[in-house]
Amino acid sequence: MAARRTEILDRIAAASRQAGVPEPQLIAVSKVQPDDRVRAALAAGQTVFGENRVQEAQGRWGERFAHERDRLELHLIGPLQTNKAKEACALFDVIQTLDREKLARALLKAADRVGRMPRLMVQVNIGEEDQKSGLAPDDLGTFLDRLDAEYGLRPEGLMCIPPLEAPAAPHFWRMEKLANAHGLDGLSMGMSADYETAVAFGATHVRVGSALFGAREPV
Ligand SMILES: *Cc1c(COP(=O)(O)O)cnc(C)c1O
Repeated sequence: MAARRTEILDRIAAASRQAGVPEPQLIAVSKVQPDDRVRAALAAGQTVFGENRVQEAQGRWGERFAHERDRLELHLIGPLQTNKAKEACALFDVIQTLDREKLARALLKAADRVGRMPRLMVQVNIGEEDQKSGLAPDDLGTFLDRLDAEYGLRPEGLMCIPPLEAPAAPHFWRMEKLANAHGLDGLSMGMSADYETAVAFGATHVRVGSALFGAREPV
C-alpha cells in the first residue's frame, strides 16, 4: 500500500512538474474496499478519502473509523439523494456531486439542522451521456447563477466522470475551460486510468481507487 501510494504521488508530482501546474490533492477512493486496506492507507499517511454512498461511508467513517475522523478530509463523490442530505452534511467535508436545485435546497435545510455545511462542487455530465448524473455543460452557467442568487451558495469547483470508452483528454480540456469561464478554482477529475492526464489539464483533486487499493473485489 505504502509503495503504491508513493508511486501514485510521484506520478502526480511528475505530471504536475511537466505541465507546470500545482500538484492536486490525491483523494483515495475507498468505496467497497475492505477495512484492512483502508487501515493500511491510513498507516501510509493518507488523510483524504472519497466515498460513493452515504450509508457505506457512515458505517466506515462515522462508526468503525470514527476515532480517525477528526484528522481526515472526506469527499462524497457519488450521487446524493435528498433524503440522505442530513447524513451527508453531518459526515462529509466536501460534497462533489451537487447537480440540481432540489438538492441545493435539501442541503441548506440539512445544514441548518446539523450546524455545518460541507464545501460544494458541481458535477458536470461532460460527455452528455443519458445515464449519467450531472449538469449539461450548457446549463452550468444558469445553474451557478441560480445557486448564488436564490440560495447564496458558491461552489468551489467542478467534478466530472468522463465517458469510459473514449479518450478523456478532450473532456478534461473542456472542464478546464468551463471552470475558468465560471471563475471556479476547483477541478475534481481523473481516476486510476487517467489521473496523470487530468493533472495536465489542471485537476486540483484526482480520485484514485483501484490503482491505490487494488481491484474492488467483492468481500
Ligand atoms: C469509483 C470511483 C472513482 C475511482 O475509480 P478507480 O478507477 O478505481 O480509480 C473515482 N471517482 C468516482 C466518482 C468513482 O465512483
